Amino acid sequence: MVVAIDPGHGGYDEGIVYNSPDGNRISEKNVDLALALAMAADLRAGGAKVFLLRQADRYLGIYQRTRIASARRPALFLSVHLSSTAAFHIYVSLMPQAPVPPTPVPQAPPAPAAGTGAAATNTTAGQTGSLSGSSGQPTPQQQALRNYYQYRFRQRPYLPQSRDFASALEQSVTQAFPGKNVSYMEIPLPILDAMACPAVLLECPGPQFMDYTDPATVSGIARAVAGAIMTYGKE
Ligand SMILES: [Zn+2]
Repeated sequence: MVVAIDPGHGGYDEGIVYNSPDGNRISEKNVDLALALAMAADLRAGGAKVFLLRQADRYLGIYQRTRIASARRPALFLSVHLSSTAAFHIYVSLMPQAPVPPTPVPQAPPAPAAGTGAAATNTTAGQTGSLSGSSGQPTPQQQALRNYYQYRFRQRPYLPQSRDFASALEQSVTQAFPGKNVSYMEIPLPILDAMACPAVLLECPGPQFMDYTDPATVSGIARAVAGAIMTYGKE
């Protein structure tokens, strides 16, 4: 089982920045990476294979992240962030309930005065449930539409598993940090929407509410998260 961990932000994208009263400048991208590295160490110690989307301070766009993670075909995807509140927030993708009907492909204007039959060949795309052209091969427009939907809604079949994992995570974090609230929400998040495996985004409490300069904070969160992943993986 390969676990993909996605440390949020990186490079010029710092995420949340907090200047503490004692003069520390805390940047979310560094905390996210420290948390991810500690989670990876715990998971590897427990026998799991872990893939980190970044192991250094570098910028990754959302499509890069999706491509890099998908190429590894992970069994589980966890994105690690900080929140701006004192709570932990656990997010799962919000997918439309019913399959989405094909949207009509934008039509090229019909060729001028091309005769009676010519326009008709260009106007049927997207009007039926099938994305295949009459030859069985999708047109470039149809292929683009197909890619878009495959990408945008890839999370849908994995939602029940994502919720199961979110629930394991919620339990583990609640036990480890009894003084903290842990919220759960399903919202559209492109990085989760596009993942073809159980996928969760975890926001840890903001740096003004949690002392991330204390190694015990980082290792405590990592242990709780790794524990949830190992529990989930055994089921
Ligand atoms: Zn973030």
